[in-house]
Amino acid sequence: MNSTPTNSGSTGLHPRLDSVFETVVRRNPAEPEFHEAVIGVLGTLGPVIEKHPEYLEARLVERICEPERQIIFRVPWTDDQGQVQVNRGYRVEFNGALGPFKGGMRFHPSVSSSIVKFLGFEQIFKNALTGLPLGGGKGGSDFSPKGRSPGEVMRFCQALMTELHRHIGEYTDVPAGDIGVGEREIGYLFGQYRRITNRYESGVLTGKGLTWGGARVRKEATGYGCAFFVEEMLKTKDSSLDGRTVTVSGAGNVAIYAIEKVQQLGGEVIGCSDSKGYLHDPAGLDLELIKQIKEVERAPLEKYTSEKSGSRFVADAPLWDLPTEVALPCATQNELDADDARKLLDSGLAAVAEGANMPCTADAVALLRESGILYGPGKAANAGGVATSALEMQQNASRDSWTFEHTEKRLLEIMRDVHRSCHEMAEDCGVPGDYVVGANNASFVRVAEAMLAMGVT
Ligand code: NAP
Repeated sequence: MNSTPTNSGSTGLHPRLDSVFETVVRRNPAEPEFHEAVIGVLGTLGPVIEKHPEYLEARLVERICEPERQIIFRVPWTDDQGQVQVNRGYRVEFNGALGPFKGGMRFHPSVSSSIVKFLGFEQIFKNALTGLPLGGGKGGSDFSPKGRSPGEVMRFCQALMTELHRHIGEYTDVPAGDIGVGEREIGYLFGQYRRITNRYESGVLTGKGLTWGGARVRKEATGYGCAFFVEEMLKTKDSSLDGRTVTVSGAGNVAIYAIEKVQQLGGEVIGCSDSKGYLHDPAGLDLELIKQIKEVERAPLEKYTSEKSGSRFVADAPLWDLPTEVALPCATQNELDADDARKLLDSGLAAVAEGANMPCTADAVALLRESGILYGPGKAANAGGVATSALEMQQNASRDSWTFEHTEKRLLEIMRDVHRSCHEMAEDCGVPGDYVVGANNASFVRVAEAMLAMGVT
């Protein structure tokens, strides 16, 4: 993330929102990612603010920009050498108007207040778009599981939950995974929660293993959902993924299952990436090989080239150097900048859907929107993960376990609804095809109406 937009009247915000942003910057200094997420939403709320002056009167925008609760805590644990290590844990309970706070935990050295708040803020609107009863929250730690033994990861998770358990619960706040937090970490976190509370409270965490309360399709959900969303966008242009060239950044949970569904829908995925560089296989990616390398061996993606002739790995370069018709950024924030967007647009780009959270920089988003191609922002395009988490909570509450087919069908229905809400709201706002305006306004109205109904809380 580069710089914080200043609030000198140059923010381009609706005049009544200028002072709101000023307060956000003053209260949250040196948090550029959070500022960017806020301005990204406020900058598009003009239509809804004009239509609903009561929202300003009730100071709903101010209230939504201020988290309900922020928890920052020490996480001390002991490594394999017997040395004490100290990390910092975060949980930001941003908005609970629509349901229990819901959002993942991220374990990565870059985790900070700013990152957690940007993710938590986005999560409010993403969760609202699903139409399911979910509030918005996010958390994490600056701990890196990379290079740590399973024992170290377990002790870290136990130490983190020793504090976190006071703040969460199936009706309060329901964390899940994110970068660095998969089924293994959720298992250690759940085990410690159960030990401390003496309760088998399945609905307190999502992303659980299938044999102990997890949902089918949760692992695949964000990537599948992203592919469903882009397919819906293409349909509005009487087109589809079938026969299209596609690149998908990352080689983690979201990327792998986005690739899988795109391939099932007939797309030709020719490139993906990891933190070391990008992989190009003109013959189409061999997904089973990628799963073996990244999910089983946890090895660098470059290994692919030693198994598949005709493929190449380009170190320290962006995947966006490869021309493509459909680009799905599914790795991390700010991984696609304005130069990348220009390159892609010059070489025939038709659609972008964000599997990751805020992967396109603000400048890149501006270019993509101006260009008139299809652009699906993360809060809509990657909502399939949290939606399926809500389905996991439903199954936990009814002590039920749905089939893969049934769960995938529900996911598809939800992603179609998310797409429809964004598309219709963009038309209502007079900017047909602008999914950013559509997603922000549609989700804002849902949260605002609930807050209005509940009075000043
Ligand atoms: P993950 O499993 O940890 O995978 C992240 C992948 O991105 C890894 O392959 C990593 O490479 C790669 N990567 C990291 N930095 C990169 C860079 N600068 N350039 C290219 N590749 C890079 O995480 P994930 O769960 O897939 O999440 C990815 C994104 O989706 C995040 O923004 C997350 O917040 C968002 N998201 C996730 C979910 C979900 O259900 N998981 C839901 C909604 C949104 P290495 O393998 O080398 O580490």
